[in-house]
Amino acid sequence: MKQKTLLKPLEIKGIGLHSGRQTTVKIKPADENTGILFEKDGVRMKALYQNVKDTQNCTLLEKDGVQISTIEHLMATLCVLGIDNALIECSSTELPILDGSAKEILTCFENAHLQTQKAPKRFLKVMKSVSFKDDKGNFIELCPPKNENLHIYFKIEFPSKIVGTQIFDGDITKDIFASKIAPCRTFCEKYQIDYLRTLGLIKGGSLDNAVVLDGEKILNEGGFRLQDECVGHKVLDLVGDLYTSGYALLADVKAYKTGHYHNNMVLRNLFETTDNYEIL
Ligand SMILES: [Zn+2]
Repeated sequence: MKQKTLLKPLEIKGIGLHSGRQTTVKIKPADENTGILFEKDGVRMKALYQNVKDTQNCTLLEKDGVQISTIEHLMATLCVLGIDNALIECSSTELPILDGSAKEILTCFENAHLQTQKAPKRFLKVMKSVSFKDDKGNFIELCPPKNENLHIYFKIEFPSKIVGTQIFDGDITKDIFASKIAPCRTFCEKYQIDYLRTLGLIKGGSLDNAVVLDGEKILNEGGFRLQDECVGHKVLDLVGDLYTSGYALLADVKAYKTGHYHNNMVLRNLFETTDNYEIL
């Protein structure tokens, strides 16, 4: 299998979640072995776990004082479409939030042609189980793959009955991504929004880009898109964050109530010793 990039540049526009301002990203073809490279104000940074500086509400890259946030939904899409190399020029410090899912990003790529490059595609195969557990008992584990692919088992448990317990258990294929993962929007509680607004954040946040829960009610008209939309979104974030390994990952992943922070920490643990993995 060979590496791939885009044939022609592609543009995605929308408002940024925190700034509320219009933002544009241009995704351009890149040479083989470039990886996924972000650029803002002339500063280029690789979308690698070492460059992730904040994981509180999204995954944020930082280099030389320049930040680019909310990279995870685009990263997940690039990973699943098998795009190894791309240069992503950003007009602002955050990527467009769009509808809070990867649905519109995937649609943008639908008509984009890819070009196959000469260099072989690189895979990272997990050889020894590596985990990260926080002090609340939430954990993520990367285990050797059973079938030479990326398989995710993800479980969430929320006190509200409207979310409750949700499980995703499946291989991350293009079809599964398009039907069960990409359409899943980010979700939050109304009180969290009220708090973030007092901090001057999420100026662009609205029911157009998140599922908002208020106790046992959903404030969005039409409710959830999919029955298990919440865990589907957690899987979307996880696939995007795991792509900051710099490789297509071959692993059996188990995650329990985890988020961006855990995803980044488990990659740091994985790369601690080369005994944990093999580059194919
Ligand atoms: Zn997300």
